[in-house]
Amino acid sequence: MYEKGRAWIELSMKNLRHNVKLFQKLLPEGCALMPAVKANAYGHGAGLIGKELQRMGIQNYCVASAAEGAELRSAGIHGQILVLGYTHPEDFGLLREYDLTQTVVDCIYGKELEAYEKQLSVHVGIDTGMHRLGESYENVSDIRKLWECKNLRITGIYSHLCTSDGTTQTDKRYMRLQEMRFQNVLRVLRPENEKAYAVHLQGSYGILNQEDLAGKYDLARAGLALYGVLSAPSETLEQTYHLKPVLSLKARIACIKELKAGEGAGYGLAWHADSERKLAAVSIGYADGIPRMLSGKGHALVRGKKVPIVGRICMDQLLLDVTEAPEVCPGEEAVFIGRSGSGRIRAEEMAAEAGTITNEILSRLGARLVRVAV
Ligand SMILES: *Cc1c(COP(=O)(O)O)cnc(C)c1O
Repeated sequence: MYEKGRAWIELSMKNLRHNVKLFQKLLPEGCALMPAVKANAYGHGAGLIGKELQRMGIQNYCVASAAEGAELRSAGIHGQILVLGYTHPEDFGLLREYDLTQTVVDCIYGKELEAYEKQLSVHVGIDTGMHRLGESYENVSDIRKLWECKNLRITGIYSHLCTSDGTTQTDKRYMRLQEMRFQNVLRVLRPENEKAYAVHLQGSYGILNQEDLAGKYDLARAGLALYGVLSAPSETLEQTYHLKPVLSLKARIACIKELKAGEGAGYGLAWHADSERKLAAVSIGYADGIPRMLSGKGHALVRGKKVPIVGRICMDQLLLDVTEAPEVCPGEEAVFIGRSGSGRIRAEEMAAEAGTITNEILSRLGARLVRVAV
């Protein structure tokens, strides 16, 4: 089947390599990149991205679930795969079968892992104030007891920052507080376990905005920015980085319609032509990850021109008003994220139009889209 026949994602592996090298230059000697390839590598396709990263010599990866880890392993990825989220005891077998490293989400969970009675590789999660996963930084004596569990092979310890993408003084202060709490836990644990495990703290923003943190850590869990995008278009980083977007989103125009003034189009006839208009029906819809709330709001590029999405977005199709690009023919492509001629739509812009962040737009790109490396 023709890969670019309906709706597809193009991956620029050149841009991925550029971003990986940029991060590797930012990180100090001894701190390795541990890319987050969860949620199908933020929608990009975990197999394709994982294999390209492996070709670049990456040896550590993180995913959200044991199933994602199993899929990555099955795609031929070697090295350490860390499961950041909860794994149900019924699935502990997967951890061993696919040689995955599990996060100890708190000390109670640590006991469940121990009770499995088989060796498991784990990283200990520390909650330093996000109040999501991890054992509280205050319970250092309980944390320390995890090293007495004979079935746990502890190869790492980490925490997660919740305001590192913020630029206000309050955000920065809280980030410093989390870092201090984490360092205090490490200080208590380290003497007896010097360098016995990897320590990590930062995601994309923790690396880009807080460079001075990097010296202390062995791994850095970069996700979003490795794919060359930021959460929002207006994001103010402390400094400008030349990240290059990896993903383009494209779809085929199926047919062109000429509408007279006053005629409506799409479900509910939610949109009406106020003058003679030309519409293009495009083979992509909300089942592919175009948010339905972009109905009458979003844009695409056709022959390099930015044109509006009109009417209600359907599950498998949507309508563009291509009156401003009258030469366009059926079978041509429409670009929703990426470049066309001199035009460009960034994923950050689509996210802003949809009232969300880039992370959500990308990670929800549908399973039906064909992923093609270019
Ligand atoms: C998703 C995730 C990351 C990566 O975050 P980005 O902001 O995409 O770089 C790192 N650590 C944890 C615990 C995560 O859940």
